[in-house]
Amino acid sequence: YESPLTTLNDGKQIPQLGFGVFKVPNDETAAAVKAAIEIGYRHIDTAAVYGNEEGVRQGIDAAGVDPKDLFITTKLWNANQGYDETLRAFDESMGKLGLEVLDLYLIHWACPSFGLYNDTWKAFIELQKQGRITSIGVSNFPADNLEDLIETSGVTPVLNQVELHPYFNQAELRVANTKYGVVTEAWGPLGQGGDVLSDPALETIAKAHDASIAQVILAWHRQLGTIAIPKSVTPSRIAENWESLGLTLSGEEIEKINALSRADGRGGPDPATADFK
Ligand code: NAD
Repeated sequence: YESPLTTLNDGKQIPQLGFGVFKVPNDETAAAVKAAIEIGYRHIDTAAVYGNEEGVRQGIDAAGVDPKDLFITTKLWNANQGYDETLRAFDESMGKLGLEVLDLYLIHWACPSFGLYNDTWKAFIELQKQGRITSIGVSNFPADNLEDLIETSGVTPVLNQVELHPYFNQAELRVANTKYGVVTEAWGPLGQGGDVLSDPALETIAKAHDASIAQVILAWHRQLGTIAIPKSVTPSRIAENWESLGLTLSGEEIEKINALSRADGRGGPDPATADFK
């Protein structure tokens, strides 16, 4: 399989199915990234705070692919928000990733209470002008902060990476993102390995297709138009998730999955109030 590509508002394209490495220890990251690249993934999602940017680089080298043929995302950590801190933290990430140009840099959380995301974004815009980042975006941005960022800077993020899975499908925020021309990217696309992976309604759909629940969820993401970056360190699961590209659900099945979302389905922090460093 090859992943479909999503076109961003800056004209660049991102593979719609990517590979996440949250919570993968640095010394296990190279093996996971190598396995993912060998299976076919071309889009890798890391972050400074994951502590595994060096492992990502080692995995790319071990797979023997040119980083130019991959789409690499990393994120600016909350503690480093602010103009000067962002420039410094970016250099540090790039040193670890060993890249000349980064495909996508994200503000990891809006942290509205810090009052720094607009200054942080100015540094992102500057780094992009210097040619060191191709695309710039945000993560965990509520709609009102997204709107403020766009109005203040005049520069629209290419995407907003947010928690999104069948139990918390972000219907409202997806509408807001779309209104601004911002693509929605799903973190925790499999509900971070939680209850959703044994949901009875999803199991029924999976059985009908002789597929796994993880594959059903990933096909749902693809058909919804969200970018998904499932994580696994187990080669058989990395492959299973990739093979979701061969699964297509009916409109009725998509509607059934849409109906599983609930107000309290969020597993992670609420971006409107998150203020951790
Ligand atoms: P996920 O939804 O990808 O779930 C991963 C877990 O699901 C695995 O640890 C494993 O337990 C299970 N799993 C994976 N494949 C499976 C399969 N085929 N069958 C059964 N179980 C399977 O959760 P995640 O890792 O938190 O999110 C994905 C990526 O999103 C991360 O790795 C990271 O790159 C990114 N992320 C970003 C943020 C953010 O704040 N921007 C937060 C969390 C994660």
